[in-house]
Amino acid sequence: MHRFFLPHPPIAPGQSVDLAALAHQLYSVLRLSPGDSILLLDDTGYAYPTEIVQLARSNAQGHVLEKQAATGEPPIHLSLYLCALKADKFEWVLQKGVEIGVSRFVPVISSRTIVRPAEKISRKYDRWQAIIREAAEQCGRGRLPTLAEPLGWSAALADATGLRLMPWEALGGEALPLGAALTRGQSPAACSLLVGPEGGIDDAEAADAVAAGWLAVTLGPRILRAETAALTAAGLIMHRLGDLG
Ligand code: SAH
Repeated sequence: MHRFFLPHPPIAPGQSVDLAALAHQLYSVLRLSPGDSILLLDDTGYAYPTEIVQLARSNAQGHVLEKQAATGEPPIHLSLYLCALKADKFEWVLQKGVEIGVSRFVPVISSRTIVRPAEKISRKYDRWQAIIREAAEQCGRGRLPTLAEPLGWSAALADATGLRLMPWEALGGEALPLGAALTRGQSPAACSLLVGPEGGIDDAEAADAVAAGWLAVTLGPRILRAETAALTAAGLIMHRLGDLG
């Protein structure tokens, strides 16, 4: 069943619901018909099987059949602090990150981040939000992951909550592997992952992060591209603390 986030207005079983905001997609893209069912998500953790009762090019009405608990949300809230990358790579991380289970994306501007300034990043927000929404609908998330405003390095360090992990490429042989960091202590309810830019995290920035309580971890002996590092680490976190496998 096709899934759509439709948080407003609140919906309830037995009600009719205005689906005009989805009409183009239902009618022209998916070519659905009255009698077909879709699943509406209210972004508060509930899903509503809904029958389409009227459908035209620019308006649509549905009849809400049921209310169910939405599935697809991981048991851990993972925030990904990602130093801004070239647009296509950043968008790729947004899409795949949603599928893996990231709940919040925070673009970060570090000293070696190439894509600047923050205003340039802000112009992409509508597009990035649409990518997140489509990925969340496609993969079956129960809540829409959020996209924060871009933060500078120090603001990002202070913003994060939960278990804070910073994969750093410059650690030596004694470094703590990410997997080991995830099995120490009790499972946290929230986790923050900070991945550096293509140019790497500089020593002073890494020291500030460690002083602020972040754990510097290694992802092994090979240097991964930022997007590979972000998704590999997110996958490992979801495996150890979440619901992946
Ligand atoms: N230009 C740097 C690499 C940066 S890779 C160099 O050549 O040394 C981009 C980011 O991915 C890094 O800042 C780090 O956060 C993460 N990363 C990549 N490989 C890693 C590894 N083996 N261990 C820990 N972090 C890694």
